[in-house]
Order: sequence, then C-alpha cells, then structure tokens
Amino acid sequence: MVRTASLGFPRIGARRELKQATEAYWQGRIDQPALLAVGAELRARHWRLQQAAGIDIIPSNDFSFYDHVLDLTAALGAVPARFGEPGGAAGLDTCFAMARGTASAPAMAMTKWFDTNYHYLVPELEEEQRFALASTKAVDEFLEAKALGIETRPVLLGPVTWLCLGRARAPGLAPLDLLASLLPAYGALLAALKAAGADWVQIDEPVLALDLTDDQRAALRAAYAALAPHAPRIMLASYFGGLGDNLALAASLPVAGLHLDLIQAPAQLESALAALGGETVLSLGVIDGRNVWRADLARAFAPIQEALAALGPDRVQVAPSCSLLHVPIDLDLETGLDAELRGWLAFARQKLDELTALATAARKGVAAARAAFADSATALAGRRASPRWQDPAVSARAAAVTAADLRRASPWPARHAAQQARLGLPLLPTTTIGSFPQTAELRRARAAWRRGELEEAGYDTVLGAEIESAIRCQEALGLDVLVHGEPERTDMVEHFAGLLAGCVLTTAGWVQSYGTRCVKPPIIVGDVARPRPMTVAWSSFAQALTRRPVKGMLTGPVTILQWSFVRDDQPRAATCRQIALAIRDEVADLERAGIGIIQIDEPALREGLPLRQAGRAGYLRWAVECFRLASSGVKDATQIHTHMCYSEFNDIMPSIAALDADVISIEAARSAMALLDAFAGMAYPNAIGPGLWDIHAPRVPSAREMQALLERAAAVIPPDRLWANPDCGLKTRAWPEVEAALANLVEAAKSVRCTAGGRPPAPD
Ligand code: GLN
Ligand code: ZN
Repeated sequence: MVRTASLGFPRIGARRELKQATEAYWQGRIDQPALLAVGAELRARHWRLQQAAGIDIIPSNDFSFYDHVLDLTAALGAVPARFGEPGGAAGLDTCFAMARGTASAPAMAMTKWFDTNYHYLVPELEEEQRFALASTKAVDEFLEAKALGIETRPVLLGPVTWLCLGRARAPGLAPLDLLASLLPAYGALLAALKAAGADWVQIDEPVLALDLTDDQRAALRAAYAALAPHAPRIMLASYFGGLGDNLALAASLPVAGLHLDLIQAPAQLESALAALGGETVLSLGVIDGRNVWRADLARAFAPIQEALAALGPDRVQVAPSCSLLHVPIDLDLETGLDAELRGWLAFARQKLDELTALATAARKGVAAARAAFADSATALAGRRASPRWQDPAVSARAAAVTAADLRRASPWPARHAAQQARLGLPLLPTTTIGSFPQTAELRRARAAWRRGELEEAGYDTVLGAEIESAIRCQEALGLDVLVHGEPERTDMVEHFAGLLAGCVLTTAGWVQSYGTRCVKPPIIVGDVARPRPMTVAWSSFAQALTRRPVKGMLTGPVTILQWSFVRDDQPRAATCRQIALAIRDEVADLERAGIGIIQIDEPALREGLPLRQAGRAGYLRWAVECFRLASSGVKDATQIHTHMCYSEFNDIMPSIAALDADVISIEAARSAMALLDAFAGMAYPNAIGPGLWDIHAPRVPSAREMQALLERAAAVIPPDRLWANPDCGLKTRAWPEVEAALANLVEAAKSVRCTAGGRPPAPD
C-alpha cells in the first residue's frame, strides 16, 4: 500500500515554546528537568499531530534543542577538546556550550545549511580525530515514541554529508580522510537503533544534490557498503535539488529506499524509475517543504501515478520534498492574513493533510479525495486570477528595464572625485553598518505600540529620541559617516516587506533560523511595488540633526527575496527585479531629500547561489543586475555603499566587484582578515571597509588590535580606498560596549591615517 512519510517536523513549537523554555534555562529561570520536560512534551505533541493527520511513517530524532548537525557531532563523540574530556558523554549542557561558547571556550562556527536560512554548527575535524558513540539521543527518542505507541523512523544526518559540512582543523587534512575512523561509531549508532527495534532509518545525504568529487562518491560507496549490513533498512534521503549525475551512484548504494526532491527537480523521476533496482522503495517528495503555497494536488498526483505504474503500491511513499523544518507550523494559528490569502497557503500541518489526500487518491482513486483535490484547484485558480495581487504597471516597468538603467553615469574614479568634493571625508573614513542597540526602553515602547497602548505619535517620539541620542553619540565618538541606527526596525527584511505592496507579513509564521532564534519570513504574494517612501522621513530627520553625512539605510532586493517565501508562479529573477525597482525608487527619494550616502545591504547575496555549478553564472548575472538596478539611478556625487557578512565570498569576488558599489563594508574581523587576499588578488576596483570588530563576540577589541587589522588591510588595499568599520550591525550589542569599541575604532583609524600619510583628518 502507498504510504505517507514525514521527513522531519519543525521543533520549535507553534508558539515557540522551545525557544522560551531554552532561554529560560540559559537564564537560570528553569532547571534542566523542566527544560527536558518541554522537549518531551513537544515531541509527543508533534508525533501525535502527525499521526492524527494520517501520516504512516513518522520521524523521530528530528527534534533538537539546538541543531541536528550539532547533535550528530555530539553523538559521534566529536566534541572539540575545549568543551570537555575526549570520550566523555556529550550531554545537553555540552551541546549548548559548543553552540554558544563559554567564558573560556569560543563557540563553534555556524553557517547556512545548504541554500536555506537555517544555520548549523560546523563540525571541527582534527588530525587525530577520534569517534565513539557518545549519546543515546536517537535511541532514546525512538523508544520514547514507542512508549507512546508510535512506531517511528529515526532520522540521522548521513556520515558523508556530516564530514563534508565539517572543517578540517589541521593543514593537509581532508574531512573525508576521517571516514574510516568515523564509520565504526556511526555503525554503532545504527546498530543501537536496530537493537531498539527500529525497522527503518532515514539517513539524509543532501550532498547527493551537489556536484560531487570522485572522493566524495567513493566515500558514499564505502560508507553504505560498510553500514548497511548491520543497520535497519535505510531510506536514503536527498533533497534541495536533483540527483542529476549522482543518480546512478545513489541507485547503486545498498539501501532499501531512496527519497527524491520532486519539487526542485521534478524531471528526475523518469530516470530514477529506470535506474532503480530490485525492491528499492521510492519516496516521492511532491509537497514543497521549502515554501508555504498550497499544493496543486492534481499536479502533485501525476508523479505518484507514474511511480505506481512502474513500481506498484508497496514500493511508493509520498512525502514532502524535504524536512518541514523550513516552514511555519500551523496556518490555523495565523491571524495576520485574511481568509482569501489563508486559502492559498499551507504550513507544516496543512502539508501533512495534503500528503494524506494524495495517498488516499493513490489507494482508492481520485474520487475518494475529491473534496481535497477540488479545494486545491479552487485555491490555485483563485490565486492565479486574483487581481488583488497583480499590478500591470509593475510588470510593464520591469519589462522595460534597459542596460542604461543598470549603469552609473561615470566609472568609479570620476564618482569618487565627485563624492570627495561633496563629502570631504578624511583618509580611512570611519562608519558603522547601520543598526545600534535596541534598548529596553525602545522594546517596551514598541511592544506597547503594537498592543495599541501607545499611539503612533508617542512611539515616534521614542524613535526620534533614540535617533537623536545615537547621532549625538556618534558625533562625540568622532565617527565620520553617521547612521540613524535603525530603531524602527527589528528584522530588516520584515520591515521593508511590511512597507511594500505585494508582500504580506504573518503573525504566527515562525521558522527556526538557528538555536532559539526564529524569524517570520514575509510572503511575497504578487507584484511588488513601493506605494510611498519607506525610509526618507527618519533619514532626513537624522540628517537634519548633524552636519556630518548620515547614510541612508536600505535592504537590497536579493536579500529581501532570499529571506522571504517567494511566489512560485514566476521566476525568482522576475520577482527580484520588481523588488529592485521598488528600492531604486527609494534610493531616488533619499537622494532627492539630500542624503548623500546610501547603503544597500546584501548579506544574502551569496546564499542564493545555486548548489550546483551549472546554475551559478545565471544566478549571479541576475542578482548583480538587480543590485545595479536598485543602485544605479543616482548622480555621481551620491555615494552607494553595500554590506555583506557571514558568508564565503572568495568564490564570487568578480560578482561582488560587478555590483559596482562605491564602497563595500564586509565582515573580516571574525575571519581575521582572510578575506583581504581575495580582494587584493583580484585588484578590487572600488573602496572597501573590512570589518575590524567581530560584533558577535561580547568583547571590546582594543584600539591596537583594530589598528593592527587596519594596517594589514592597508598593506594590500590602497589607503585611499579603505574604510574603517565593524563587521556588521550593532543591534545585538549593548551601548557601553558599542561606545567603547567605536572609540577604539576611531582611535585606530586616526593612528593609521598618520602612518598611511596623505590627507590630515578633516576638521570637526
Ligand atoms: N544594516 C543592517 C544592520 O546594521 C545590516 C544587517 C546585516 O548585515 N544582516 O543591522
Ligand atoms: Zn552584516
């Protein structure tokens, strides 16, 4: 019989219960048993919810108090030495220490999970890395579900993906060199699950959707040959793309089932059916695990029928494309959207219902699921036809964009001269990235305003006061280019999406970003336009308070696109272009209001990069084009900045240069200026502000320390193209450390100015 499967359910709880409990534990307000009880309650709730939705194969071990990659690192005993005895048990507190750091041990690095906005903790791999089964979490949770009467299929991240996500900490060590020593521990974990009664396991190897090297392919072959004989039956899951040229490899592995992402790569079904051997079960990922649109059930049903015809009902499973970790939990809790809009959407719970409807149709014929199919068709037709989200002027304008719209009037040297004549900045100008601390008073006022207890004017008074004190503080510190501090924004993408036509915000659409941090990605429903200026009032207000230049502060089109749920009825590039035009209008209005410097943040530029080489050039072309469209409409004398952080930028340097921003500020302190070589190597043509202060560490760097970093930068980048700034925005820090660190930054810039020679500092 065709079975429905869930590959993973969101952990945080519909009301972010996990976040609240975990943070309470960190703050000492609840003890560990209380936290563990919340975890158990959430697991039980989610298992029962999936069971009640009619899901046949329910996952366990998809739960985590912080991150599932971290959990596997702990389970394999790969705890870095600074967090405890080698070979010791890796419990909850050890995991939290690894994720968050301690007074004496810096946290493990964190980075984005493939092309999603979920962050995992990067495994650290040592030359003599030892592995041993060090946690029974997977087995415990399997037994916990069993005790509740629910048979689960435990989920584990695959050994090859785990190694590939790791970072070797010894020169010459390749992560895959450790496979042979890893496999016994991993095998022990699988054997323990089998002994506990697990019939199947789901092993996730999303690397199968990447371009693999011969070594990686060999590692996959070796790993599964070694593991399969002593393991429960393995459902090998690939997602975030098609198997492509890895299909033959995947089909040849000794596993009992293969999961395909048929949302990202629907065309792979046919070749997979042809390649699949003997008794292998095929899991069809036909419901989108990455987006919130209600499924077109008729369309999702087609591949199921095709697979049924080829394999028969016992070898077909119906599943989401990937874990539901990346979508919000329950649309029924959503109060921010009207009924029509809600009818077009599906969150995790609703996606389970879609799976069940598809399975019913597969088992008993489409007539048996007629109501669900009809509702799906009606919703889709309604969305397609709705005039509410269509703006013909927007699509016409996007179609009329010309090459001239993507070019500044003059090349950088001429712009630089015009900007210098206007701004008169000293050598190595000092600035910040945009946000300042969100004080308790500001948060209180915002909460009261949202509850309707503080009227708009009262809230504006608080924001104005915050901005004024931020300006005075920056003047006193001696910064050269000021910011208003972004007190009116919490999440920047949510802020802009809330002001753009065509985008909606949710009230309950929380998705885990990392650990206890959750975001509510906006939903881009239709054509995007900017009905009225978004930032001009506060930027002008700030500029009127000071004679020094104040940077206007915008979020770029690619980042808004990347951190939202995007409409699925046109290419992402088309949606991005519409956002770019909206930002372009804002840039023009800021310029008209007399703002001489405008920063357009694009921290997400890199993460939109397709996972496979073949798609990259095309993506970079339109992403760069969108930034240029947003930024190029200004006069030479208006200075455009951009900002990027926390990504691997070395492989996209030519595209970063092609943005043609006058100045780019970029995170560099955290990676100890490793980035500079890339800029120097390609002779980056415009100005750069490499970050001098790792703003994620609760530590104030000294002036000497920042001076040393700046000198290193000045050795490879001509000083007249160098700026001094922190790594990123300061909204997560507190004012005392901000003031201390920025005072040191200004002092460092002044010292290097003297030695780097040239112009004296501008008089105050
Ligand atoms: N201007 C934003 C800030 O300072 C940039 C944030 C980011 O890079 N993610 O907060
Ligand atoms: Zn940043």
